[in-house]
Amino acid sequence: MTANALKHKARKRFGQNFLHDPNIIQRIIQSIAVTDKQHIVEIGPGKGALTEYLVQLCAKLDVIELDRDLIPILEQQFEHCNNFQIHNADALQFDFSVLSQNNKLRLVGNLPYNISTPLIFHLLENISIIHDMHFMLQKEVVERLTACPGTKIYGRLSILVQYLCHAEQLFIVHPGAFSPAPKIDSAIIQLTPRTHTASLVNATLDNLSFVARSAFSQRRKTLRNNLKTILTPEQIMQCDIDPARRAETLNIDEFVKLTNQYAKINSDI
Ligand code: SAM
Repeated sequence: MTANALKHKARKRFGQNFLHDPNIIQRIIQSIAVTDKQHIVEIGPGKGALTEYLVQLCAKLDVIELDRDLIPILEQQFEHCNNFQIHNADALQFDFSVLSQNNKLRLVGNLPYNISTPLIFHLLENISIIHDMHFMLQKEVVERLTACPGTKIYGRLSILVQYLCHAEQLFIVHPGAFSPAPKIDSAIIQLTPRTHTASLVNATLDNLSFVARSAFSQRRKTLRNNLKTILTPEQIMQCDIDPARRAETLNIDEFVKLTNQYAKINSDI
């Protein structure tokens, strides 16, 4: 760590919990398994805990960091690396398509917790240019994103992410691995874009989000009840789904069928 890095004070509003446990850093790097031809994009490099290893392993590393006080620290540390580029920008507003030329991007980051969910949705909008994603998130968020039907935490977030990606929790990281230590456990999630068994037809991700939000609006109630303003019981049955079921029992493909039905009915109006 440089003298400058020591001077930087972690800011809560940027979600700054810097990794300092070498074993965890190594475990994350091994999980990403970078090869020398790959283009990596790191979101929130901070003081370079992961960057230091990534830059040595890949063909090209772009990092996106919002905190301008960290930029000179990163510049000083990595200016000798000709495969390295810093973008002092907000990842939530960043146009990731400008980075993808021929190769799909591998996205990596110990994400600021306060923006992790909107950021993942921003990235899902660019799924066609993404090879995969490895992120550190709050453990609770990882559990929701990877949840299976029939569980209490399965919901709109699980459906939207799992429609586009295979989502897997890799391992848990305890607060002591960070400085300052957060109050909660974190976990590493791997998101790999998937090919669909059922696809949205003339329907958007926003439609899927809306149908899922409606279906889960009152968790204990049936689809007949929760969807009554958008689909009739007959229209639900046309999707081979019993309107007496509850949202948490439906798999992703069934949500896709309901969304296609909803989009079709609304386009007919
Ligand atoms: N990667 C470093 C590490 O593991 O030690 C830092 C991780 S820290 C949890 C999150 C990092 O994301 C910080 O460096 C913070 O300044 C940066 N950050 C916060 N909001 C951001 C945003 N909207 N866009 C890009 N970077 C952001």
